[in-house]
Amino acid sequence: MAEVAQEQTGLGNYFVANYPPFSFWKPAHLPAARAALASSPKPGTPLGLYLHIPFCRKRCKFCYFRVYTDKNARDVEVYLDALVKEVALYARQPVVGGRPLHYVYFGGGTPSYLSEGQLRRLMTRLKEVMPWDGAEEVTFECEPGTLQEHKLEALRDMGVTRLSLGIENFDYNILEYNGRAHRTEEIYRAYGWARDLGFDQVNIDLIAGMVGETWDNWKECIKKTLELAPESVTIYQMELPYNTVFSKELKVLGQDEPAPFAVADWPTKRAWVDYAFDEMIAAGYAVSSAYTLVRDKKVKFVYRDSLWHGADMFGTGVASFGHVHGVHVQNVDTWEDYVRLLDRNELPLGRALPVRPNELLIREMILQLKTGHLDVDYFKEKFGKDILDVFGAGFRQLAAGGFLTIEDDAVKLTRQGYLQVDRLLPAFFEPQHRTTRYT
Ligand code: SF4
Repeated sequence: MAEVAQEQTGLGNYFVANYPPFSFWKPAHLPAARAALASSPKPGTPLGLYLHIPFCRKRCKFCYFRVYTDKNARDVEVYLDALVKEVALYARQPVVGGRPLHYVYFGGGTPSYLSEGQLRRLMTRLKEVMPWDGAEEVTFECEPGTLQEHKLEALRDMGVTRLSLGIENFDYNILEYNGRAHRTEEIYRAYGWARDLGFDQVNIDLIAGMVGETWDNWKECIKKTLELAPESVTIYQMELPYNTVFSKELKVLGQDEPAPFAVADWPTKRAWVDYAFDEMIAAGYAVSSAYTLVRDKKVKFVYRDSLWHGADMFGTGVASFGHVHGVHVQNVDTWEDYVRLLDRNELPLGRALPVRPNELLIREMILQLKTGHLDVDYFKEKFGKDILDVFGAGFRQLAAGGFLTIEDDAVKLTRQGYLQVDRLLPAFFEPQHRTTRYT
């Protein structure tokens, strides 16, 4: 019975975004964050910048991010002023230590919600305080229905190298039912412009298991994705985190009331991702993580790989997450606090967690396991530890379950491991972190 319940898509998070879990990050640890910002950088640690643009045309029913759908043009200007000020404050921190930005990521929300004029002004001001001309990658997330050709032209002019299109599904009814703002035809229009303008890399995001998904439609989605031939495809399995429209609809139901909608169970979602992997590999794509396939092995995802290898990152914008010199940091999570603190020229830090050396090792190991490959020598060199000893029992247990293979110099996920990596990872957490809610 417990096993059956586990295989339904219940309420809660399954995705492991970081370690230790966010519920252990506390305001009481902010002095550690300030000390980290005031220190010199660890030699050889790359620095990145994440910028959160929290506006969306409407709220998707599965979304749990900090987003606003009711802000006017004046509010947007207030927010962008605060964001530029925050980046300027970070630029003055000793921990920058003369490092150029290695990667930049505009996430959301919907960064492409901003008008061309707002984007040009924002990026010009940002580059004045923290230039990214030498960055290896500048990613910009887009909702297809917010794009126009001239807006994409502005992004290209400002140095965006990687466009990530939140397509999620190609079917009109599924997009509509799940509360997505864009429509099928807007996908093709946006994609065509991105190709014509010659962006280095276009990533397409899909979600396996949106409400209303069927085998036939999923196969169509993969076929249409392959016809577009993007450099990179990212596929997430649908979850029902707390505080989404869907979860709230389920929570108010009486015990005997039927659910108004169904999300496919985990085995079905895994079967859909498995199918996608097969089709894409047959078309020449390579697996670059449990969620991402790339058209050419040379296609990189610098933001992900930097973070998963312990890079520093200033997380800017309301409720954003960052990591600096061994300390996790999250900004305050309300608009009012964010704007108020920056108005006072203070970094809007909300909570932090200094990560102990053993936790840093666990963090990098579990995040890199998501790529499907752990390099034993990398961990020996960086942490002075043999992961085959430290995590040997856990690896052997997962190997016995068919989720990974252990070699002399590497640990590799099997296909079954890739399909459910997030639910395997808590086995490596320290005991006090295992049973808590992730957020
Ligand atoms: S577009 Fe993205 S950030 Fe905005 S509501 Fe939908 S899922 Fe959330």
